[in-house]
Amino acid sequence: MPADPRPRLRLWHLTESRFSSRSPEFATHTTAFTVRPPLEGDARDTVTCPWCATELRLRVASPERFRRSLGQWALGCAAALLTLVAGAVVVVATPLLVAGVVLLVGGFLAAVVTAAGWWWSTGVRPDGTPGPHHIRPDRSRR
Ligand SMILES: [Zn+2]
Repeated sequence: MPADPRPRLRLWHLTESRFSSRSPEFATHTTAFTVRPPLEGDARDTVTCPWCATELRLRVASPERFRRSLGQWALGCAAALLTLVAGAVVVVATPLLVAGVVLLVGGFLAAVVTAAGWWWSTGVRPDGTPGPHHIRPDRSRR
């Protein structure tokens, strides 16, 4: 079985506390955790937040399914970058300025969204309402 590309995860507990009426202050608590991915399909697991003692139910994708998801994000990002390049070509080489700008802006926005989707993807998602919790890849050095 190939190794899981991202076995280390981090649970974020995000709280908002208002010290003034104009600007909310956000505090984050994070803790590292790991899950055991199934050999195929999805599996259920749980993690307990050490800050509020909430037990989160998780749905964990197999490494193969997670790699497929990462590939789809990367493919979407490549398509978005091609759209961006096509927009640049249209702006420079044709009189269709508005269409070129639409392709440029749309391609740029789609590239940002798909790159963020690839970057933050974990193969693990909350099963139910996560509340103030977020699951992110753990990129810290341990
Ligand atoms: Zn919590």
